[in-house]
Amino acid sequence: MEPLIFEKSQPGRRAFSLPPLDVPEQPLDELLPAHLLRHQPALLPEVSEPELLRHYVRLSQLNYSVDTGFYPLGSCTMKYNPKLNERVAALEGFRHAHPLQPEETVQGLLQLMDELAEALKSITGLAAVSLQPAAGAHGELTGILMIRAYHLDRGEAQRRKILIPDSAHGTNPASAAMVGFEVVTIRSNSAGRIDLGELERHLGDDVAALMLTNPNTLGIFERDILTIERLVHQAGALLYMDGANLNALIGLVRPGDMGVDCLHVNLHKTFSTPHGGGGPGAGPVCVSDRLAPYLPVPRIVRRGERYALDWDAPKSIGRVHSFFGNVGMFIRAYAYIRMLGADGIQRVSRDAILNANYLLSRIRHVYQQPYPETPMHEFVVSAAAFKRFGVRTMDIAKRLLDYGFHAPTVYFPLIVPEALLIEPTETETKQTLDAFADALLSIAREAETEPELLRSAPHRTPVRRLNDALAARLLNVAWNGQAKHETVPSAPSS
Ligand SMILES: *Cc1c(COP(=O)(O)O)cnc(C)c1O
Repeated sequence: MEPLIFEKSQPGRRAFSLPPLDVPEQPLDELLPAHLLRHQPALLPEVSEPELLRHYVRLSQLNYSVDTGFYPLGSCTMKYNPKLNERVAALEGFRHAHPLQPEETVQGLLQLMDELAEALKSITGLAAVSLQPAAGAHGELTGILMIRAYHLDRGEAQRRKILIPDSAHGTNPASAAMVGFEVVTIRSNSAGRIDLGELERHLGDDVAALMLTNPNTLGIFERDILTIERLVHQAGALLYMDGANLNALIGLVRPGDMGVDCLHVNLHKTFSTPHGGGGPGAGPVCVSDRLAPYLPVPRIVRRGERYALDWDAPKSIGRVHSFFGNVGMFIRAYAYIRMLGADGIQRVSRDAILNANYLLSRIRHVYQQPYPETPMHEFVVSAAAFKRFGVRTMDIAKRLLDYGFHAPTVYFPLIVPEALLIEPTETETKQTLDAFADALLSIAREAETEPELLRSAPHRTPVRRLNDALAARLLNVAWNGQAKHETVPSAPSS
């Protein structure tokens, strides 16, 4: 085997110091069978303690995160996660709890979960909650399973269709299809909202539910929601609301008051639990009285002063997660909600909406808004006008990285060509929003004068433009013996 080449290793250098051995040394071959012993020392880099520390700190800094910079990834609500939440989740009693402990010994945790569910009920205006689902998409699946159970229970097995607007997140049709429903797409109108005529045409006794997002993924509030609700229920169907955009509504509007039957909440978006890197997340589902009998088991119930787990729910769709879900996320979300209180919760949405509208007002003379409505907590602009310089949305997104910002969501929602979906969240200062707006405006000038700079961006990141699909599927970050960072194939330069 070829010897590995370490860049910083020097023979004999050590990152630790130990006191001299003060017990008799035992020969190794008395401790281990001879065939298990190494014949040569392991080939490891030999470095000093500061070098070791710098190596790992530098590696950690190659990751962009909400703790290192602005992260306006639309629909994902990358708000700051208060560090207090982490402290609370790491408290002794929580940290050492085991899912197989008897109920009597985890009363505090059950109380916390019960109170979190109560808080979600009052925030959403819905009747009952299951905390089990591990993500938004999992909450959707749980909700759709309950909707199926509801219709089957009423002898309406012919309700095989789920209506979904064309602006929806891809998980919506995926969840409906996974449960076996036929997905019917409802066109948006020129204002970026559900087309009521189109909705009415599709409603009938073969429709199980309308699955809508409000505000929708254009950041626009479906202001016809009460009419929509009436039409859907008159047709005997149910109303599912994707609650991923709840950051625009909390403390202001309750989905329950809009006639929603089922809503999933992304704790890892709205309620500040860490988001990204593959989880864990949490996507509790909140339901109206109609769907409450079908919620997953076990359910946490309060009997006098004690909390218990109740399995006695004959109509339940069963369990959707081992044990209780991602309990660590519940602790963080609970800490966040209790820290804010009712007033603070309302301020979240007000500030999120204010920040989005301020940012939009700074850039909209250069980046066109395809649906010029006043948005809520996020907004969509199109970079189609830059095509005449040979510049695409992806080039702008990559160039933003050179300015030190995470890119917004791009090419989504699908109904907007060259889309940039920007969600600043409430936790950013005016100075940060201004700096980001200045970067976008400066990039727009570069598109005109130096388009090649954008097409070849990013220039200042540890890796350049990668093939996203391969980077996700075949990521290999192992050290390969060469002083080189790029370990996934680059994107073809088309
Ligand atoms: C994030 C998101 C989802 C899916 O949530 P996950 O927790 O990522 O599974 C669904 N719909 C919308 C609009 C979203 O933004």
